[in-house]
Order: sequence, then C-alpha cells, then structure tokens
Amino acid sequence: MSFDINKIRDEFPILKRKVNGYPFVYLDNAATSQKPKAVIDSIVNYYSNYNSNIHRGIHTVSQEATDAYENARHIIQTHFNIKHSHEIIFTSGTTHSINLVANGFENLLNHEDEILISGLEHHSNIVPWQMMCQKNKAQIKVIPMNENGELNLSIFEKLLSNKTKLVFVTHISNALGTINPIKEIIQKAHEIGAVVLVDGAQACSHFKTDLQELNADFYTTSAHKLCGPTGIGMLYGKEEWLKKMPPYQGGGEMIANVTFEKTTYAELPHKFEAGTPNIVGAIGFGEAINYLNKIGFDNIKNHESNLLKYATKKLKMIPNIKIYGDYIDKTSVISFNIGEIHSYDIGAILDKFGIAVRTGQHCAQPIMDYFKISGTVRVSFSFYNTIEEIDYLHKSLLRAVSMLS
Ligand SMILES: *Cc1c(COP(=O)(O)O)cnc(C)c1O
Repeated sequence: MSFDINKIRDEFPILKRKVNGYPFVYLDNAATSQKPKAVIDSIVNYYSNYNSNIHRGIHTVSQEATDAYENARHIIQTHFNIKHSHEIIFTSGTTHSINLVANGFENLLNHEDEILISGLEHHSNIVPWQMMCQKNKAQIKVIPMNENGELNLSIFEKLLSNKTKLVFVTHISNALGTINPIKEIIQKAHEIGAVVLVDGAQACSHFKTDLQELNADFYTTSAHKLCGPTGIGMLYGKEEWLKKMPPYQGGGEMIANVTFEKTTYAELPHKFEAGTPNIVGAIGFGEAINYLNKIGFDNIKNHESNLLKYATKKLKMIPNIKIYGDYIDKTSVISFNIGEIHSYDIGAILDKFGIAVRTGQHCAQPIMDYFKISGTVRVSFSFYNTIEEIDYLHKSLLRAVSMLS
C-alpha cells in the first residue's frame, strides 16, 4: 500500500477536532497513540452485536466472542512470530505484565541473587523489582547510560556474573527515544544463564519484532501505544518460564479443579488470566495490529524517520535549545529544554496553540537526575503526523520563548 498521509489522517476522527480554537496537533504519541476508525468500529461492533462472556457459555454469541478473543491472540502470535499461542498472556498492559513476572520470580530468587536493570527504565520497570527485592532480598544493580542516552555495554558486561539471575531492559527509552542494542544484551545475559525481560511498550508502534529470533525470555507491550485501546496489553513468556511461575491472581477461568481443600490450576495461558478478561480490549488490540500492518511498518519507519530528521534540524535552529539523548539510533522522540525556561511553561503555552506535548519526568526520574534537570519537553511523532505540524511547532515554540523571556 502506498503511503497517503491525508488518507491516513482521515481515518483518525480525533485529528479533525480543534483545541483552544486551533487545529489539534498531537505530539504526545509516546504517552499514548490515537485510534483509527477500524479499532473504534471493532469496539462498537462487539458491544452492539456479540457482547458475551467467553470460554463459558455454549450459546452462539458466547462462542462468537470467544472466537474473536482467541483470534486476537492468534493475530498477536503471527505478528510477533511467537512459537505457541499459549505463550501470550493478555494483561492490562506493560505495568501489569512486569508486575506479574516480578511476582512470579519472588520465590525463585534469594538474597545471593542479583538482577540488572538499565538506567533508561520507565518507573514501571523499576518499582516492581524493588518491591520484589524487599521480599526476597535479591540485589538490584543498574547498567548506566552516558550523555547520549546510550547504555554502557562494557559496564554491563562487568556487572554480569554467576549471581546475575535476571536482566531487565527497555527496548526503547520512552523519555529519550534511544533504541537499545537488546539483541546483544540478551545474548550476553544468556551466556551466563540469566533470564531477560524486554519492555517493548515503546517499540511496538515503530517496528515489528520477531520474538523467536530476538530470543528474549519475556517481552511486554501495551495496546494503547500502538493504536489499540487502553487497559489491554500482553506478556509474552517462554513456555518453560510461564510454567515455572506461580499464578498471579486467583479466581474464575484460571482453575482446573476447585475444592475447599485444594485447587489445581488451568493450563497456559488461562493460568494467568483470572476472571473475565478485557474481551473487547483484546479484540481492539488485534484490530490495531492488523491496521498497522495494512499501513506497513516500512512505510511507518520511513515517514517517522523523515519527521524526526526534519524536526531535529528545525528545533536545533532555536537559540539555547538543548536536546537530550541526541543519539543516532533512536525513534521519533525529541526531549529538550530551551534555556532556563521550565518545561511546564512551554507545554502550557503550546497547549494554548492546540499542540499536545508531554512535559516533566516522563516516568523516568533517574534519567532526569542523570542530566540534573527537573524535566524536559518531549515531542513524539507518529506516522499520522506531518511536516506542516512540525513547522507549526517550531513557530509556536518561538512564540512561547518570546512570551516567556
Ligand atoms: C508506557 C510505558 C510503560 C507503561 O505502560 P502502561 O501501558 O502504562 O502500563 C512502560 N515502559 C515504557 C517504556 C513505556 O513507554
């Protein structure tokens, strides 16, 4: 399919609205993406035509809902080239997925064990491990980053030892856009027998990942960052690890046999999907993946990289601007400050002009501490953004600076 930006923008109803009297310019895609009509329609269609609980009823509509839910799992399996469909657990998103794994490893580690996390992590990939370590007393070590927002791989290799049991690293930093060399990290970690979890929340909207080739033990994502609904995401886990981990929550759907004395758990993936799941969310998630594949990840990559190059060049023309993590291998995210102006003030003025950006710490306080700043302005582009929007951003930033200085 050829890449027709006007046609694509037409498929996103929200892009037609105005904000504060101006056309809406949405540059906060790293926080969440907008939703195309195909995804919205799939949600309306489910509730209008075949809403029912799944895996329980023998009636027709329940069967239709079950088929659609399991079909979504199948779409995800194909998209990520996952070996077994039962290695895909539907969760409420990346945060839930990581907590599920941290809970699963609580009793598999002890005070002699170490876990490595990268200095580029989102809070959702820091806090669950700290909570786990409070219980099992394992130690957390941090793989540091440098001025460009790149992880220091030689320190990483020095930190690896036979005590290292787990390595957690984000595929892409949400605050800076850095693409981490996760293939290399996974290989090195596997050489000493450590388990690797990759946080794919930022990656999945930008490119397609083959999970068998990548060979991570766990991989997570949130549908809302890739044009799908909120409240749904996935945990991919290798069968052997999902089998070793205890269930996270007890309830209906996750059991094989229950008496008051003893319960046996259901097979994967149901062991980890207690209660009525987010049925419509899963359906919308599958629809979003189909939609992105229809646009084509080559087209997405191409367009986003043009936007990033153009915006970087344009923003660098603004006096006193500092871009953080100006790294060569990054996605369409630019994190910056202008002179001494507080990021929040810039964000508030941009909003008056209809432009949505993120300001502050972006759930990654350690990165801000590294640069000794309280936060940044972050603009993040998606395939539905345009060069004209970047020109408008540039013009509006100059207006904001003249108003604030
Ligand atoms: C958004 C994000 C998360 C958290 O995702 P939720 O959908 O809020 O659970 C975790 N890690 C990264 C890198 C993110 O961008």
